[in-house]
Amino acid sequence: MTAPTKQTRTDTYTRDGYRCVMCGGVDPLTFQHRRAVGTRGSKGILPPPVDGLTLCAVCNQRCEADMQDSALSHGWKVRSWVKSPERVPVYYPGELGWFRLEGVTRVRISSAVAMEMGCSVYGDEWMRWQAHRMFGADGRGMR
Ligand SMILES: [Zn+2]
Repeated sequence: MTAPTKQTRTDTYTRDGYRCVMCGGVDPLTFQHRRAVGTRGSKGILPPPVDGLTLCAVCNQRCEADMQDSALSHGWKVRSWVKSPERVPVYYPGELGWFRLEGVTRVRISSAVAMEMGCSVYGDEWMRWQAHRMFGADGRGMR
């Protein structure tokens, strides 16, 4: 894994308001790689801010453990084969809304646009995740 530059880390934290995107906590903050670590190929490729998210250490861990599915359905994590992580929208629970990451900024989008973006990357899988996300943890009956 290649660590982000100091500038990228600062830009990412600034974009996210220096708070954990998932829980709103402030300490200690970490740079979370949206794309799975270790599958990005050659070393030396620095992650841009669109490939990062501000998370506290606890949430960062949970994204790699019990909350993997949830992290994918909210755009906090992105499958490793996705070439352009900016094409996957990100849900900010603290602001109850979807955002498109763009360079070092983010733009609020409607849930319909988020659905379009997600589907253009993941297809039906994204639809299943959103049904799961909206209608509860077990998601049974939604497939
Ligand atoms: Zn957190």
